[in-house]
Amino acid sequence: MKNNKPPYRKLKGYAFDPSLSQQAETANINTIVYKVIWEDLYVDDKTIPVTDERFQGKGPIGEYLEVVDYDPTVQKLYEPVNLNDNHILAQDGLSPSESNPQFHQQMVYAVAMTTIRNFERALGRKVIWSSRRLLGPAYEEYVQRLRIYPHALREANAYYSPQKKALLFGYFSSTPADITLQMPGSLVFTCLSHDIIAHETTHAILDGMHRQYNNPTNPDVLAFHEAFSDIIALFQHFTFPDVLKKQIAETRGDLSAQNQLGKLAQQFGTAIGHYGSLRDAIGDFDKETGKWSPKKINPNDYHNVMEPHARGSILVAAVFEAFINIYKNQVADLLRIASNGTGILPQGELHPDLVNRLAGEAAKCAGHVLQMCIRAIDYCPPVDITFGDFLRAIITADIDLIEDDNRNYRLFFIDAFRKRGIYPQV
Ligand SMILES: [Zn+2]
Repeated sequence: MKNNKPPYRKLKGYAFDPSLSQQAETANINTIVYKVIWEDLYVDDKTIPVTDERFQGKGPIGEYLEVVDYDPTVQKLYEPVNLNDNHILAQDGLSPSESNPQFHQQMVYAVAMTTIRNFERALGRKVIWSSRRLLGPAYEEYVQRLRIYPHALREANAYYSPQKKALLFGYFSSTPADITLQMPGSLVFTCLSHDIIAHETTHAILDGMHRQYNNPTNPDVLAFHEAFSDIIALFQHFTFPDVLKKQIAETRGDLSAQNQLGKLAQQFGTAIGHYGSLRDAIGDFDKETGKWSPKKINPNDYHNVMEPHARGSILVAAVFEAFINIYKNQVADLLRIASNGTGILPQGELHPDLVNRLAGEAAKCAGHVLQMCIRAIDYCPPVDITFGDFLRAIITADIDLIEDDNRNYRLFFIDAFRKRGIYPQV
């Protein structure tokens, strides 16, 4: 019989996090449809008797993930969403909602699966979680599914637990620095942020590939874990062309103007204070003028900054700069065509066709950068990684795949790292 399973399960979700749906300028770009590779999903929603006790009260449960929506603060097990329900399937999943726990489960599932898929596409093999260490003769146990707890903690935190093989997401009352940013006291759910879910899922995937990267044998190791997770979250974001279109229209194609792009990244840090590494990586917010500007490069940072998130932001900034230059190089011809050869666009709004083409190119470049960074992980040493090792791995992995670098991708990477004093050690 012909296998007529659909290729994707379409699930609505936030492109960023719920805060953007409350702002007039971003509300209409904040809902996107995640296309998740189709897999059979199980759920214990009491409509069918559960034969396997491991599945009790859980869902969705797929090949890689199991969502367990138990909230220990209020001692409540939220009913799991049944993504196989006809009505839900026909509407591309539940609509985004901050107050619906079933949507929260759908959101973590959709983003974590998207992240897994990006790794598998770049690596050409399955993602496997790090095994559980046991005492006794069989010292390792295979872990098939990563657990996700969307409401695990009542605090401004979210993390991957290598012991539990689980992602734990917190929620908390907002305490914005400025009351015009967010309603003080409103609940903020970290499980509704694309960037936070992608970041934590990446920690888990990286742990599955390099277990020793949790072992800080040099100042770069933990910083690398943070930076790599931010890089995946950031570039995964930029692979959604619809999200980019508005930003490109507003910056008139010049992503290095970075005002809007910086704003994108700033959202990352609004929700939880300590999770600001990405925002800090790209630009600084001047408290007095209230203006954002791209961060100035300080080559001494690599020698002086040791806190893992802050140190990681040096690496994120280097990769981001490489991306901007790759993008600029890639669209130079489009800008010349659109400007009668001068490269300087006339005043006024860009033609929508040009916006579409630029957004398409930006998404493609982001996809390439994402794949280059993921593929590099296979070329990194199993212990004691440094940022220089990562650069060497990016270059080597890319040479293995594409011999000539006629679009200067590798050159832009080397250049951005050099400016920050990062070189492979010999
Ligand atoms: Zn982290």
